[in-house]
Amino acid sequence: MTSPPVFTLYTRRRHEGMLQSDMDVVLNQHPIRHLYVHIPFCSGKCSYCVLYSVMYDEQRASRYVEALSGEMDQWRRTGPPLKPETIFIGGGTPSSLAEDSFARLLQHVRSRIDPSALVEWTIEAQPGTLTPRKVAAMLAAGVNRISFGVQALTDATLQRIFRRHSVADVETSLACAREGGIDNVGIDLIACLPGVTSDEWRASVAQAARLPVQHLSVYALTIEDGSLLADQVERGEFTPADDDTQVAELDVAESILGEAGFHRYEFSNYARPGRECLHNLAYWRGNDYLGFGPAASSRVGTERWTNVADVNAYVAAAEAGNPVRRERDTLDARADLTERLMFGFRLAEGVNLDRFADADADLITHWKSALARLSDQGVVTQQGARWTLTPTGRLLADHVAEELIPAHRD
Ligand code: SF4
Repeated sequence: MTSPPVFTLYTRRRHEGMLQSDMDVVLNQHPIRHLYVHIPFCSGKCSYCVLYSVMYDEQRASRYVEALSGEMDQWRRTGPPLKPETIFIGGGTPSSLAEDSFARLLQHVRSRIDPSALVEWTIEAQPGTLTPRKVAAMLAAGVNRISFGVQALTDATLQRIFRRHSVADVETSLACAREGGIDNVGIDLIACLPGVTSDEWRASVAQAARLPVQHLSVYALTIEDGSLLADQVERGEFTPADDDTQVAELDVAESILGEAGFHRYEFSNYARPGRECLHNLAYWRGNDYLGFGPAASSRVGTERWTNVADVNAYVAAAEAGNPVRRERDTLDARADLTERLMFGFRLAEGVNLDRFADADADLITHWKSALARLSDQGVVTQQGARWTLTPTGRLLADHVAEELIPAHRD
């Protein structure tokens, strides 16, 4: 995955670019404990994907690694020290980098942080692209978690969605990680992919649960505008599953994974006890984060910004020492807090209103009356100050958001 989505239901104040002096103030008020680094290279395009990535090219990737260091240096020159608790290197396909560039990337990041508070450092990998040297470079830098984009567990399905690995690659890469000394490993699966029957889905989830992994992300397929899959739908070559089928397939996954000892701690995420992804938990708990690389987004205080989604423009700006940020939004304090509250509803632990000590009394009153209405509708449930979505509520997240968002006051 890349940086998490930002809710767009609010009126925002949009700016072009951002003054470094503004940024210094924001950063000094909000120390950053979570870093995301985007590696925008892939060896092809999967049929369902619209994330920002370009075809891998060694020369361009090598130059990109240096530009990324330049962006981090811009921060270090003016902001407080980067002392993260979690780092997530995603893409794209970070593991697509050649061994030398891959090792250089990790050392560049490592040398630009204070690692004394670091507890989790994840890197995304495509099965078939891991090597013992890459795993050794991860260990040397302090990476302790790998997330593999598996997506499906039959070769026919993998080919149908234009993945560039096989089921055998999954097994080989899991062994490579484990033998290299990294045992905190997760995989992603997608439900309702083209041509997959319910029986095949059930068998794939059961197979995934038997793999030596501690974490599974299970997403329902979405047809994104601009994806190759959207073209296939348009041409009548594939009919997406309806909502009931999607819910049924996700329920199958929850049941199989639950029996295998994985608990569902977020809408789409399952983990063995103690192996939740701390970085993504931080997003959902509403913590601030800083994103580096093209198309990476950041959330700091009431500010949201996104870097330019063009690797060439990004490299040119970073090499010239110019800002790589493209868009900045400023939320008002109520919208900011409500956005953070909404992310929390993705979690099985729900949200504790006591955590929102900064919210004004009117906002708390608005949330409490909205939650009382939602409770009457069977959408949320309360235990003390903690509110969680019911199974019905999980299907009605947009409705919950509409209820909780206060009317905008200009
Ligand atoms: S490997 Fe990941 S980022 Fe690259 S095209 Fe496929 S899904 Fe998208």
